[in-house]
Amino acid sequence: MADRREMLARLNPQTVRFDVGQGGGTPALTTSDIAAALGMVPAGLGREVMEAVYLPDGATRHRAKLAEAVLAIVRPEFTRRARAVADAEADLEFAQAVVSLTRRGLTDGQRRQLREREGAVVLAKANAWPRNTYQHLSRMVDAVVLELASGNRCTNCRGTGQVSEKACPDCRSTGIEPLPDRRRALAMGCHPSDYPKRWKPVFEWLLSELNREVDIAARQLSRALSNSDRTPQARAA
Ligand SMILES: [Zn+2]
Repeated sequence: MADRREMLARLNPQTVRFDVGQGGGTPALTTSDIAAALGMVPAGLGREVMEAVYLPDGATRHRAKLAEAVLAIVRPEFTRRARAVADAEADLEFAQAVVSLTRRGLTDGQRRQLREREGAVVLAKANAWPRNTYQHLSRMVDAVVLELASGNRCTNCRGTGQVSEKACPDCRSTGIEPLPDRRRALAMGCHPSDYPKRWKPVFEWLLSELNREVDIAARQLSRALSNSDRTPQARAA
């Protein structure tokens, strides 16, 4: 059976190429069957993404609601990463205070501990997202939705983001066919030289999360459509 998302894509002239090569094997579903099935997908991020990606003018019509749903998952992740920096810095300061209290030469153990805690601060800072992440989110979501709408899944992991239970090295576990950094930078409206260090980790995280959410929603849609296949109205359509 064809990917149900491909059927949804028929509603959207921009993604009409999804049909190409499908042949005649797909069940006859009307636009209203699909819209009704979409209504049965539980409300939430996955449905918002799917509506933005697959409905006509979805990206425009669902922009505000989608941005709100995205913000709801970005906020805890942003906070978690910022807290990790604060915690690592506090641990380092504590270790430095202990050393200064003893007023003797550093022991090997203390030296090792300081080095480890300095390393932890560097790592936490590298993993933290830019302070102005929220301001860039709207353009970033637009760019991610465009990539999801293109339907270009990573061929190495077949869109799952994993190969042998490890992060797919080709798409960096986003599940989407990798694009050059420069293209993504321009799509999200940041300077290409800012992208690799500042925005790439945020962009790839978001791409990966939304790809997974839309997959879950697509499975729910698929179940709803299978049920509608069996109704007399659907068969008569
Ligand atoms: Zn991959």
